[in-house]
Amino acid sequence: MCGIIGISSNKPVLTDIINSLKKLEYRGYDSAGIATLSDGEINEIKSEGRVDNLEQNFDLKNLKGNIGIGHVRWATHGIPNRINAHPHSSHNVSVVHNGIIENSTILKKTLISKGYKFKSQTDTEVIVHLISENLKTAELEEAVTKTLKQLHGSFALGIVFKDIPDLIVGARRGSPLAVGYGPNENYLGSDSYALKSMTNKITYLDDSEFCIVKKDEVNFFNEEGKKINKKILELSSDEESYQKGDFKHFMAKEIEEQPTTVKTGIKEYLDNVNNDVNLFNFPWKIDEIKSIKLIGCGTAYHSCLIAKYWFEELTSLDVNIDIASEFRYRNNRFKNDSLYIFVSQSGETADTYAALDLCNKNKMKTCSVVNVIESSIARNSNYVLPIHCGPEIGVASTKAFLGQILVLYILALKLGFLKNELEKIKYQEKIKDLKNLPNLIEKTLLLDSHIQSISSTFNEAKGSMFLGRGSSYPIALEGALKLKELSYIHAEGYPAGEMKHGPLALIEEGMPVVVLAPRDNYYKKTISNMQEVIARGAKVLLITNKSDDEVVSENIWETIEVESTNKDLLPFLLTIPLQKLAYYSALKKGYDIDKPRNLAKSVTVE
Ligand code: GLU
Repeated sequence: MCGIIGISSNKPVLTDIINSLKKLEYRGYDSAGIATLSDGEINEIKSEGRVDNLEQNFDLKNLKGNIGIGHVRWATHGIPNRINAHPHSSHNVSVVHNGIIENSTILKKTLISKGYKFKSQTDTEVIVHLISENLKTAELEEAVTKTLKQLHGSFALGIVFKDIPDLIVGARRGSPLAVGYGPNENYLGSDSYALKSMTNKITYLDDSEFCIVKKDEVNFFNEEGKKINKKILELSSDEESYQKGDFKHFMAKEIEEQPTTVKTGIKEYLDNVNNDVNLFNFPWKIDEIKSIKLIGCGTAYHSCLIAKYWFEELTSLDVNIDIASEFRYRNNRFKNDSLYIFVSQSGETADTYAALDLCNKNKMKTCSVVNVIESSIARNSNYVLPIHCGPEIGVASTKAFLGQILVLYILALKLGFLKNELEKIKYQEKIKDLKNLPNLIEKTLLLDSHIQSISSTFNEAKGSMFLGRGSSYPIALEGALKLKELSYIHAEGYPAGEMKHGPLALIEEGMPVVVLAPRDNYYKKTISNMQEVIARGAKVLLITNKSDDEVVSENIWETIEVESTNKDLLPFLLTIPLQKLAYYSALKKGYDIDKPRNLAKSVTVE
């Protein structure tokens, strides 16, 4: 969360900083701020809310300087107001920070006792004074090394200095940070997206490293302050993916891109000639893997949950799933014959990264399912399965979710086949069905206007429930999460069979309830549960798949039918109407669909 940009150039940097901050806004949008250096001074501006407010509130012509840092915030310490906005500056140092300084209270006390005054409620401000203090007795590199050692917690930092006006210091521990190289200028940025319009040459900092960025050179250092060499990566240009095109929102575009997401995944992982799955360079022998542990957060956790059903269906592997923020602090039993799979769109999710780190330290087999292949999680896994769905900008995940479940399904198929638990004929039939999936998703996307017309009922309700059994249960959770995220309507996802153990008490006359009942092994049971909620006054939206058999039930409010296919693939199709339901209800309410309140895209704080 939060976005950092820094530019050191031979020309004024303000416009590029503003443009980069607009791109970084998907990472945090509580407040924004910039500090530049000119005429021996630190010039600082900050505003509550969006980057646009900076442009409205200040006469930017006055913000001169060929070197500067900028920040969009996702508050962790202190309310999102102007004072708590970054940069935080003293008379000689200005800092932007992504992350949490866990020992800030103790550091603050010590600094106050030394006479430092604090203006904000943030944890970040201690860094400003700490570095000023250390600069009293040490040269730059040494002062930075010393400061970083005093900080506990996670950070990506951009720091400028009034008295050393030709450089920016960048540092990383836990939160992502990259350096970009341009003509007569160099950059610091939270991600390549912010830097891409200026350069495609990038170096990612690793944990505990810092860098000194000047307009004509960049130097990297390890945690002891020793100079190190790092590789420069060349990124491919996919500029089009960063534009909304004819769509009103990135989310609408990303929903419609899902046939392409699946087509690309199929192209990357399926061998058309042999009707097989390609897992290039899979580093383990199949007998070395006896169990699977899937770990993620939010939507990625829902992907793990669906995958559990598939792995259990297609293999005899013992499968467990975990929420990363829980896993990382538990007393885990690490197993050498287990494959630990980490799922994260950005590949920077702080909790998932920490869980991976824990597994690496315990020498486990680690595999990641990520969208951003240069990410920390990808770089630190033994094996990476990219989802190849291109940049996802909308904060609420859509195509990345489909990309994740596709890759996990393909992995389950292959492991089932390699372990001789899925017969060749069935394996190849399933691969054949998979190839038709983009076509079925395209057809499901056409249900648009029906879903749009239903969505206002959800907006008028106090709350709603999403029910499903089997692999439809994680989809119910995901549907409820999307509605919460975008429309701020209370929504619960529940296993349909659990309703009578408590939540049925919530059902009242007219409450919208989404029932996911595809024609699978659970169909009849789910339909019975649906009748139980209808009997108590619920307004049921049934989502099922097309069939010659009519649904035998009275008083269903609305029915949506997705295409029919083999039951493994129905979760892909059931997801689409739920994404659209959340989208249209937020659209009717006039909410900011791509940037829902209190959220941010890349959750780089724990
Ligand atoms: N912890 C810092 C704050 O609350 C930084 C948060 C962020 O990553 O945006 O200001």
